[in-house]
Amino acid sequence: MIKRYITIMLWIALLSVLLLGVAVCAEAHGVTRPLGDADLDGNVTILDATRIQRVLAELDEMTPAVRAAADADRDGEMTVMDATRIQRYLSELCNLDGSTPFDPHRVVETVTPIETSTLPTGLSEPSENPPASETVLSTQAPSVQPTVQRFTLSTPHITRVEGSNNGAVIVWNAVKGAEKYRVFVKLNSKWQKIGDTSAAKMTYSGAKQGTVYTYTVRCVSADGSNFLSDYDAKGFSASILETPVISSVTSLDRKITIRWNAVPGAAKYRVFYQVNGSWKKLGDTASTSFTYTHSDSDARERYTVRCMNAAATYFTSGYSVSGYVFTFSIPKEPAYIGNSSTHKFHYPSCNDVKKMNLENIVRLYSRNEAVSNGYTPCGHCNP
Ligand SMILES: [Zn+2]
Repeated sequence: MIKRYITIMLWIALLSVLLLGVAVCAEAHGVTRPLGDADLDGNVTILDATRIQRVLAELDEMTPAVRAAADADRDGEMTVMDATRIQRYLSELCNLDGSTPFDPHRVVETVTPIETSTLPTGLSEPSENPPASETVLSTQAPSVQPTVQRFTLSTPHITRVEGSNNGAVIVWNAVKGAEKYRVFVKLNSKWQKIGDTSAAKMTYSGAKQGTVYTYTVRCVSADGSNFLSDYDAKGFSASILETPVISSVTSLDRKITIRWNAVPGAAKYRVFYQVNGSWKKLGDTASTSFTYTHSDSDARERYTVRCMNAAATYFTSGYSVSGYVFTFSIPKEPAYIGNSSTHKFHYPSCNDVKKMNLENIVRLYSRNEAVSNGYTPCGHCNP
């Protein structure tokens, strides 16, 4: 039994030597090239996979003849699958023709990649996917490829994290040639995949208000099977802020004041009012109240407030969708006249009113409005 097995193995070994000889001879006569030899140097190396990826990313060009040579899986066209095939071949996961390596000694050498400990864990894809490019590279003997450009695309950098009602919106610089990005969040000290996108931003719905998260982004191939860029290992840390809550809206004459709770970390707030179901900007402020003069004497308004960065260029929180409804109605004739200097209020008929400076006159429409704004009754007309 063992003898028979050895015999078979010997035959297989002999056969493979013969086949190799044929291939070498053919190559020596310039008849055929190894499948996937995209740079025509006679060898299939990681440079060929890189070349294919660069051409697919339109960073490089290739003649139809070279494209044919680069078609490692011989399916008639050069695709990312050919780069994948080469990477799998170099990792000794398969032969160039895609078959399983028959030599039991040709097993994958388990060399720990340099950055494995800091690699986003979402990178370890199901088994049908190839290993990350750097894993492939690290299994190469140093003599084979001493200096290889590790990735074809530059590393994306996150520029900001915006707050929204759907979660944290991670925004990064678009990388030239990138078709798709993979976004990660660090949870329990490990990078977790959030998802893939072709846009240069992604919403992380798992972000809790007021909690700092660290994010990073990598370029991936269109089919998501290969990393085409490195990533910022330090990541970008930010939190979405708590949604501001309006605590009160008051009016004095036609001046309306909106007040809300201070939100930790908020540099600025934007106040909105609703018109026909959509929110319009009323104004920005660094304080926790906002006063404006209403154009009408009767109105029912709905207000909401949202946090912003200091330059007021993007939102750092979500907002209350229902907002705060405030109804006010100002009669044509005020019930009382207040003095903004003395903070006394009078009946309009009081003699003191006739002596008041015009700029100190405040029209008050109810006793409650007068008292709640800090006015006290006049001792002469006793309103
Ligand atoms: Zn008076």
